[in-house]
Amino acid sequence: MNSNTTIPRRSWAEPYKIKMVEPLKMTTRAQRERAIAEAGFNTFLLRSEDVYIDLLTDSGTSAMSDLQWAGMMRGDEAYAGSRNFYRLEETIRRYYGFKHTIPTHQGRGAEHILSQLTIRPGDVVPGNMYFTTTRLHQEMAGGAFVDVIIDEAHDPACKHPFKGNVDLAKLKRVIDEVGAERIPYFCLHATVNMGGGQPISMGNIRETSQLCRNHGIKIFLDATRAVENAYFIKTREEGFADRTIADILLETCSHTDGCTMSGKKDCLVNIGGFLAVNDDELADRARNMVVAFEGLHTYGGMAGRDMEAMALGIEESVEYDHVRARVGQVEYLGNLLHRHGVPIMRPTGGHGVFLDARAFLPHVPQSQFPSQSLAAALYVDSGVRAMERGAVSAGRDTQTNENRFPQLELVRLTLPRRVYTQAHMDVTAESIIDLFKKRDRICGLEFTYEPETLRFFRARFQPVTGNKILQDDYGNLHGENAAYIQSGA
Ligand SMILES: *Cc1c(COP(=O)(O)O)cnc(C)c1O
Repeated sequence: MNSNTTIPRRSWAEPYKIKMVEPLKMTTRAQRERAIAEAGFNTFLLRSEDVYIDLLTDSGTSAMSDLQWAGMMRGDEAYAGSRNFYRLEETIRRYYGFKHTIPTHQGRGAEHILSQLTIRPGDVVPGNMYFTTTRLHQEMAGGAFVDVIIDEAHDPACKHPFKGNVDLAKLKRVIDEVGAERIPYFCLHATVNMGGGQPISMGNIRETSQLCRNHGIKIFLDATRAVENAYFIKTREEGFADRTIADILLETCSHTDGCTMSGKKDCLVNIGGFLAVNDDELADRARNMVVAFEGLHTYGGMAGRDMEAMALGIEESVEYDHVRARVGQVEYLGNLLHRHGVPIMRPTGGHGVFLDARAFLPHVPQSQFPSQSLAAALYVDSGVRAMERGAVSAGRDTQTNENRFPQLELVRLTLPRRVYTQAHMDVTAESIIDLFKKRDRICGLEFTYEPETLRFFRARFQPVTGNKILQDDYGNLHGENAAYIQSGA
């Protein structure tokens, strides 16, 4: 009996209803061509007003709940000892299990403090793939990041269920080569943002933690999307189906010594972050530093109301229906694209769908930044804003100053939490599928301005030929295209 034909398909729907709306602006293609040229073909430099569906990032773009907004009114804006701080600290203890919380304005504030306090010049920090700000702070403290993720992580087509796993043999080799005393900590990502939001299994977390602890190496978690990671463990790893997201999250953290957190992701708030650690002395030193760089240790750059919203967001984030819908929406968009032959990173990860730009634009060499080009062309086609995660993000080698050309050359369609509907996913997919059919009309880009660090944020480009990223459709004799052909331009 074929179950597909006998069981009627049940539709999926968002587990919330809309109480307040923010109208979206529609633009014409001519307006978008002008806007992307003015933005130097970098989607980071577009004005948000000119964007229709904004999939640039899931960072700080979540919709807060009615409860969170109510919590904003309960902000205790005392300079010292705000009630909201104690509530946040207690919530982090309950859900993440760490003893001390040092609030920061966002994740990189926590990375800065952790890196400065633990890394000495010449140290090596291994981890399961780099993250941009995390690695920068490690380098600014004099350390060097070494990637020890499994090889499968670099293959967009490989369907390994836990592509974020640590390759223990690679990690052992690093420990043997540099010595445990030169490794201040292991940097554990769950999920792995730069690898497509791919999860790490609990089995692998346990083994990695054991290996580090056997060598006396500390292990710090980038907990930014650890809730999403817990969902993948629950649904993909044997033995976890009956455990709650909260329970899996707590176990994840228990294998580490602390975490840095960008609250702008899993915690469902628009700003905020924290460093959380178990070690009393490290916490004390971190509090001394937060006072210098962020704010007093009971607010760390956040308003009282922001800490209240984050505490409530943490509670909501571990609810099964929420995280299932969140990851489910990513999967829905990924499946639409895959079914139409669009090359994407598979399986889909936690926070977005990643287009494989090398397979999408085989005619654009990596030196002409295919991901940057594809993101710009997508905006021109439909007003959907995505972002580059490839050679531009990878930057230059700190020793040789040569461009780094990573194996993964991706365009990230990142889904804000609780913001867009399935219909927005359909519109997005239609544009990408159409673009894939006319992909030979997309050309490469070259720098006109290249910032020294984190260049992807503010770099400017121009098309390598002509002045358009997406050539006009000669077959379409309507509107602006007709005018284009008539003018013979
Ligand atoms: C966003 C992010 C950070 C940095 O956090 P910010 O809040 O943007 O400073 C660190 N690690 C990962 C994995 C992230 O996605």
